[in-house]
Amino acid sequence: MRAVRLTFFVIPHSAFRIPKSDWTAMKAKVRFTYTILVVSLLTLSWPYGAALADSLHQVRWVDDGDTVVLADGRRVRYVGINAPEVAHEDRPAERFGPEARDLNRKLVFKKKVRLEFDREKQDQYGRVLAYLFLQDSTFVNAELLKGGYAYYLFRRPNTKYDSLLLRLQREAMAKRVGMWKRFPDQRGPYLGNRHSRRFHQMTCPFGKATAPKHRITFKTKYDAFWAGYSPCKRCNP
Ligand SMILES: [Zn+2]
Repeated sequence: MRAVRLTFFVIPHSAFRIPKSDWTAMKAKVRFTYTILVVSLLTLSWPYGAALADSLHQVRWVDDGDTVVLADGRRVRYVGINAPEVAHEDRPAERFGPEARDLNRKLVFKKKVRLEFDREKQDQYGRVLAYLFLQDSTFVNAELLKGGYAYYLFRRPNTKYDSLLLRLQREAMAKRVGMWKRFPDQRGPYLGNRHSRRFHQMTCPFGKATAPKHRITFKTKYDAFWAGYSPCKRCNP
């Protein structure tokens, strides 16, 4: 300690003065150090910034009640729900298809959304499978169910929000909102598959192929939906 102090005192005062000729070199050094510092900070903060940017996506287009296109071109299919189809060239719109698209558009069009994934991140058509959340944390998939603009769709192994989604569907059914209002039910019976949780008309070949241990019968379509089953795409019960 004493040695250090002694050194301090023996250094002549002039040593702290910087000769004018050295100023330019000194300035260059400072500028260089500053640049290195800024570059390091930017590099360090890059992964954080990138992660943030990556978690929010602008919705560029709304196909229908359960499918959108992001600004980066990826097509996203909502998980856990199915909305009725809108009209296509070869077939007319399903009941509540246009209304479902309109609500979805109102919720997410040109908005920034956060995607949340389940076990499968893509379907067989290359669409991203996701739960969508708005910046105010509105759960988009759930909103469509709440209004009766979509029904709950079971699909193994993507079951993260199943109990919530089925509960919301039952609330909408009980309130008779959206598609549940004057729900066009016909007396069944309908044949359900406990494994796939799809239900069929009794004559459907897919339904007939159901293993006896997986069979369940529903008196009405409403009962099948209430139990969390969704209609077969082939026989369209
Ligand atoms: Zn069927």
